Amino acid sequence: MKPLMIISFLRSARFGWIALLVLMLGALNSNAAVNIIAAENFYGDVAQQLGGDNVHVTSILTNPDQDPHLFTVNVDTAKAVANAQIVITSGIDYDPWMSDLDAAHPNPKRIAINVSSLIHAVNGDNPHIWYSPRTMPALAEKLTGVLTSLDPVHADTYRANLAKFLASLGPLNEKIAALRAKYSGTDVLATEPVFGYMSDALGFKMHGMGFQEHVMNNTEPTAQESEEFETLLKTKKVKVLFYNGQVTDPVTSRMQEVAKSAGVPIVGVTETEPAHTSYVPWMLSQLDAVEKALGS
Ligand SMILES: [Zn+2]
Repeated sequence: MKPLMIISFLRSARFGWIALLVLMLGALNSNAAVNIIAAENFYGDVAQQLGGDNVHVTSILTNPDQDPHLFTVNVDTAKAVANAQIVITSGIDYDPWMSDLDAAHPNPKRIAINVSSLIHAVNGDNPHIWYSPRTMPALAEKLTGVLTSLDPVHADTYRANLAKFLASLGPLNEKIAALRAKYSGTDVLATEPVFGYMSDALGFKMHGMGFQEHVMNNTEPTAQESEEFETLLKTKKVKVLFYNGQVTDPVTSRMQEVAKSAGVPIVGVTETEPAHTSYVPWMLSQLDAVEKALGS
């Protein structure tokens, strides 16, 4: 049946006009952007790249000067979650507030994507999973599937966006492989475990894990942990100190000073993606800083 014939058929029916109106509203609705909320802006960034003009993305954690481990929700966060069709959380206790909000505003049609579960990370693992090279490809594949099921009209666009995104990871993977070939086995130290998965991917030998966990959880490292940490810097046993400027306290600031006076290069890293960049350039700029530090 041709569209005009459907319209005349509907007009002849008793509630034809109402039916027509409902059809038109339905058509309008199918053109509406898919509403996505991401707990962290690096996932929001990837969601935007994958969805393009067909999605509307809101990210909650966006400030690279704030400690995400101390984040609490407000009314705007709750509203954004209530209106979302897709909710992306990192999981394994990094953003428990997001799952709480999701549960507080139940909607059986809302699709929750827990990124940790996509890479089989479990509670107790390092929660900064977006520093693992495995994470974004897994999220991209999953999200493309979800978008295609919610909005099949744009399936071709989503597939093309996925291919483009996966290709954009090429330079990042090449950089990781090149640094690993040159610097695998290097002893390194960090004030907080944010760079952990990337450090593993580079083949580095990370020290001071107990100290780092205390800083992440906003608790005091033991005297022994602090002493060992300081000795690693003073004796230059470690070649780099990764400094998370988003999660600091007097102890991390002091270690930064110790590294400076010992001549151990400091590489600044952040949990949250800085403004005016995107995932791949952000990661590449940090890897450039690593290369520069190890080359000096
Ligand atoms: Zn952290």
